Amino acid sequence: MKSLVILGATGSIGTSTLDIVRIHPDRYRISAVAAGSDVAGLAAVAREFRVDFAAVGDASLGPALAEALAGTGIASGAGEAAVIEAALHPSDLVIAAIVGTAGVRPTYAAVAAGRRIALANKECLVCAGAEFMRKARETGAEVLPLDSEHNAIFQALGRHTAAEIDRMTLTASGGPFRTWDAARIDAATRAEALAHPNWSMGAKVTIDSASMMNKGLELIEAHHLFGVAADRLDVLVHPQSIVHGLVSFVDGSVTAGMAVPDMRVPIAHCLSHPERIRSGARTLDLAAISRLDFLEPDPVRFPALRLARAALADGGIMPTVLNAANEIAVASFLEGRCTFGSIPRTVEAMLERFARSNSKPAHLDDWLEVDRSVRRETVGHERSAAPYPAH
Ligand code: NDP
Ligand code: MG
Repeated sequence: MKSLVILGATGSIGTSTLDIVRIHPDRYRISAVAAGSDVAGLAAVAREFRVDFAAVGDASLGPALAEALAGTGIASGAGEAAVIEAALHPSDLVIAAIVGTAGVRPTYAAVAAGRRIALANKECLVCAGAEFMRKARETGAEVLPLDSEHNAIFQALGRHTAAEIDRMTLTASGGPFRTWDAARIDAATRAEALAHPNWSMGAKVTIDSASMMNKGLELIEAHHLFGVAADRLDVLVHPQSIVHGLVSFVDGSVTAGMAVPDMRVPIAHCLSHPERIRSGARTLDLAAISRLDFLEPDPVRFPALRLARAALADGGIMPTVLNAANEIAVASFLEGRCTFGSIPRTVEAMLERFARSNSKPAHLDDWLEVDRSVRRETVGHERSAAPYPAH
């Protein structure tokens, strides 16, 4: 019996994880869960899986959670300290699936405690990747990539090391705007941006997929996870989302990680690694799909990819700036306060502004202080971001 902690238990990744646990009640026990503000959803999960501890991130919701769990004997807490307490609850594996920078401290706490982590929260590695991986090396915390592309690469890599690798490739579906022209993308609505053709995911990562910022964040994630230099990381647009990642070795061999586009596949891999279990996903039928297409990404219509590459190349706090500005701009777009096109323009403006004070902080608190100051600068800016000149 393996015990699990699920951070982000009410979200898209959290819910898919619970689906797999339901198939294997004899293998997994959930010891602690955390969510942001969905008290009813969190309490339902806590009750169904008889967890020991449940935490809600919003500090004001402590009494509501305690009331929702009254009579169950399940302990609860509220606020970031309680989410960290959930992360540190005894477990064999921590599923790190909180969305955004809110996931950084709880996941880092699990890393600092030397826990085994299944990492969905890519923002951890984009915001403070160097410090995150340094801490993992120090404590021996094993970080299993849960993000589908990185999980595919992890599987394709096998036991090989960085010296044997020529290149790594992440694929991207291209999102709902893959064939749209720049002006139409610029004016896209919330509903259009949320209509992902292949994947069902939370709102933030779905918007990031539409702008292709998701692939930019994932390049930075791959750099930290696998220790591969930025100029050896490629992106290929692959509309069918069947091949998720490829590893090209120095001898010319290429291995690919393939699966139907269903997050239960990489989640099940992380849960059972190094064994295999059923995930509930359907079997890949290549004859039914019949063809797989691969195209170069277009950096003009999708400037986010170019911005992420530049931030990774510049290093220091620039990926932190990219991530924080993007998170504010995406939230603003989702709330109807700015256009789709102003997301990359805002990020670009913030990268320019912070380039003058680029640095390499030594401690997590310093990285998070940069994150906070970028957020302060970004708020309001996204609504006035000027359009790109017509190409
Ligand atoms: P969702 O928006 O669906 O879920 C986010 C989860 O985080 C919810 O459980 C939410 O709780 C919780 N949460 C939000 N804020 C806090 C907080 N302050 N403290 C504790 N919990 C909090 O996101 P996804 O599941 O789509 O994504 C989660 C992460 O996984 C992201 O980093 C994303 O990039 C990554 N990822 C997701 C993929 C997907 O297919 N969905 C694929 C690859 C990576 P509440 O419900 O209460 O708001
Ligand atoms: Mg991904």
